[in-house]
Amino acid sequence: MAYKISDDCIACGSCAAECPVNAISEGDGKYVIDADECIDCGTCAGVCPVGAPLQDE
Ligand code: SF4
Ligand code: SF4
Repeated sequence: MAYKISDDCIACGSCAAECPVNAISEGDGKYVIDADECIDCGTCAGVCPVGAPLQDE
């Protein structure tokens, strides 16, 4: 399982700075999570101001 960033993302970059495994990078208009790198820690969801990172099934 991994986290996934929804379209609510405002591209602030906070999550990318906090991810312990650097799984988050800037994408096209929003940030994206590399599911192969994500360790499902939930840090990104905790720091995001708009609640964009969601747990994916
Ligand atoms: Fe990074 Fe943790 Fe978010 Fe996965 S859940 S993208 S490891 S901060
Ligand atoms: Fe997007 Fe939230 Fe990450 Fe900011 S913290 S880049 S709004 S997902």
